[in-house]
Amino acid sequence: MGFFDPYKGFGVTFSTMFKKPTTEQYPEQKKETAPRFHGRHQLNRHPDGLEKCVGCELCAWACPADAIYVEGADNTETERYSPGERYGRVYQINYLRCILCGLCIEACPTRALTMSNDYELADDSRRDLIFTKEQLLAPLGDGMQAPPHPMRLGDSETDYYVRDPDAPLPWQVTDEQRAAAGAASDRAASDRAASDPGASDPGASDPGASDRAADVIDRRAAGEHSRADEVPAHGAGSERPR
Ligand code: SF4
Ligand code: SF4
Repeated sequence: MGFFDPYKGFGVTFSTMFKKPTTEQYPEQKKETAPRFHGRHQLNRHPDGLEKCVGCELCAWACPADAIYVEGADNTETERYSPGERYGRVYQINYLRCILCGLCIEACPTRALTMSNDYELADDSRRDLIFTKEQLLAPLGDGMQAPPHPMRLGDSETDYYVRDPDAPLPWQVTDEQRAAAGAASDRAASDRAASDPGASDPGASDPGASDRAADVIDRRAAGEHSRADEVPAHGAGSERPR
């Protein structure tokens, strides 16, 4: 240790005496967080009010603090809480354990679970810091209806996940708009057919296509089948639902 080292320590104290104090007057004055601050969780809903959570438990498996408890259950046609087969019947987050790391929201495949900017998670009761599904669910917004109720955005869960988020909701579209959209689509189809007569027949632009198709049919009839013959499936699995 050098001769001046103890005085260097006093120097830090001395220079700090002239700095402006940064004391925050919490809770009288609440400071705004950064927009992406990880605070209290929220379970989101679809625009018709059905829940996005499908009870898959991926968030619980991803949690390093074992703070999430999920029990899934089957939807029925008379009692539907989410589009598709399953929903989260029981959902709990234990804020005594949670370290607000955000790994659970990364793991969620349906974007059901997100984190808000709310950081006021202190309490003097251990029981009250275990938040239930009712506390975590997002409030009902405009046009939403509390589940259980039938699917209102379409006939299948694909209609919920593969849709333009800016498109009007089915109950917002008037009969005039629906008729105009149908007429525009018919006009576009007839324009395409007029400008490219081969477009309606994919085989016409690829003379070898019909031969290859016939070859596949022959091989299938003969019991030969390869993965190259399979048509890639669209919808489930082809796009990560968000
Ligand atoms: S934020 Fe982290 S600790 Fe908290 S529930 Fe999610 S994964 Fe677990
Ligand atoms: S919040 Fe997401 S990851 Fe967790 S159970 Fe629900 S759908 Fe699955």
